[in-house]
Amino acid sequence: MCNALASMGHMAASPIPLDHQATTPCDPAVVEAMAPWWSTLAANPASRSHRPGLQAAAAVAQARGRLAAALGVAPEAVLFTSGATEANNLALKGLAEAELARGGQRRHLVTLATEHRAVLDPLRYLARHGFALTEVAVGPDGLVDLAALEAALRPDTLLLSVMAANNEIGVLQPLEAIASLCRQRGIALHSDGAQAIGHIPLQPSALGIDLLSVSGHKLYGPPGIGLLVRRPGLELAPQLHGGGQQEGLRAGSQPVPLIIGLATALELALADLQPRATRLGTLRDRLWRGLEALGGVRRNGAATPRLAHNLNVTIAGVDGAALQRRLRRALAVSSGSACSGGAPSHVLQALGLSRQEAAASLRFGLGRHSSEAHIDAALEILGEAISDLRQRGPAGA
Ligand SMILES: *Cc1c(COP(=O)(O)O)cnc(C)c1O
Repeated sequence: MCNALASMGHMAASPIPLDHQATTPCDPAVVEAMAPWWSTLAANPASRSHRPGLQAAAAVAQARGRLAAALGVAPEAVLFTSGATEANNLALKGLAEAELARGGQRRHLVTLATEHRAVLDPLRYLARHGFALTEVAVGPDGLVDLAALEAALRPDTLLLSVMAANNEIGVLQPLEAIASLCRQRGIALHSDGAQAIGHIPLQPSALGIDLLSVSGHKLYGPPGIGLLVRRPGLELAPQLHGGGQQEGLRAGSQPVPLIIGLATALELALADLQPRATRLGTLRDRLWRGLEALGGVRRNGAATPRLAHNLNVTIAGVDGAALQRRLRRALAVSSGSACSGGAPSHVLQALGLSRQEAAASLRFGLGRHSSEAHIDAALEILGEAISDLRQRGPAGA
C-alpha cells in the first residue's frame, strides 16, 4: 500500500478531530501490547488443562494487578465488563437486586439530571420495577448544590450515582464531599468515571467511592472493554449469567487482548496525565478566546472545576441543524453526547438552555494529538460558518 497517497487522501477527507469525548484513538503501544494475544498466544484463560490457557490466565491476573495498582484498589475489586455502559448496569441494577435478594428495605435511588444515559436509563428501569428515583437538578453552571443533594437523601436511600466528569460539559462534581454525605448514612456511592479516569487524578477508595465505572475507549484504549471497581464486600447481583467467570459476578470468557490493552492504556494515560492536561488546557483556552472574539458565544458549564480538554458553547443567532450540516465535513465536533441519537442535549437543558439553544451548541473534546494548528484551523472554519449562518438568520435552516 502506498502510504504517502493513503495519508494524503486521508488528510483531504478527514475533518479536524475534536470529538475525543465520544471516543479516543487506541494508542499504537496499546495495539502492540495486545497483538500476540489475538493470534499466537490466543487461549481461553478458563482452560486450566493446558499451558496456553494457564498462560492466558496469568496474563489476565497480571493485567488485573496493574489496573488495580493504577486505581489504588485491591485486585479483587476489579471486575471486567464490555465497557462503562455494562459497568453502570452491573453497579446499579446489581446493587438494587442484591438489596431485594437480602430482604433489605431500601428502595430509593438518587442521581443527577445531567448523568449519562447509561446511568439514567438503568435507574429509570429500576424506577419502573419497584424503586423510587430522585433526579437532582444542577445549577446553571452544571455543578450540584450539596445542600440540595443532601435534602434528596432519605432514610431508605440505597444508592447515589454521581459522575466524576460530565461527558458533555466537562464539569467535575465534588465527589469527596458527596462521599462523606453517603458514608454518614450507609448509602452506596457509584460514580461513572468514563470521562475522568486517565484524565484527572482519581482514586476511588481514597475518595470513598464504592463503585466506579471505567471505559477503555475513552482513555486511548480499545473499545469493547471496561471495568467496574467494586469495594470488596459490597454485594452485587450478577447481570450476566453463564459460565461463572469472575466469581460468578460477570459470566463470559475474558477477552485477554482487550484486558491487556486496557491495562496498558491506563498506565500510559496516567503517565502523561499532568503534562497532557496542561497542554490541552492551554489549547482549549486558545479555542475559547477565539470563539469569544466572534461575539454571541456562551460557554456551558463552570469554567472550573472542569476537564482541561473540554469546551462546550452555545452560539447565538444560528440554527443548530444548519450549523451541524455546515460543519460536518470540516470539523468532527458534536452537538451533545454521541449517545443521545440527535435529540437536543438533556444535559444542556438541565442547565436551563432551551431546546433551540441546546441544538445550537457544540462540544469540543481535545485529545493527545490536538495541536495549535488544529485549533486555529477550527477557529477559521467556525468563524466563517457562524458569520454566514448569522447573515441568513436563526431560521435559515
Ligand atoms: C462513553 C461513556 C459511557 C459509555 O461507555 P461505553 O464504554 O461506550 O459503554 C458511559 N458514561 C459516560 C460518562 C461516557 O462518557
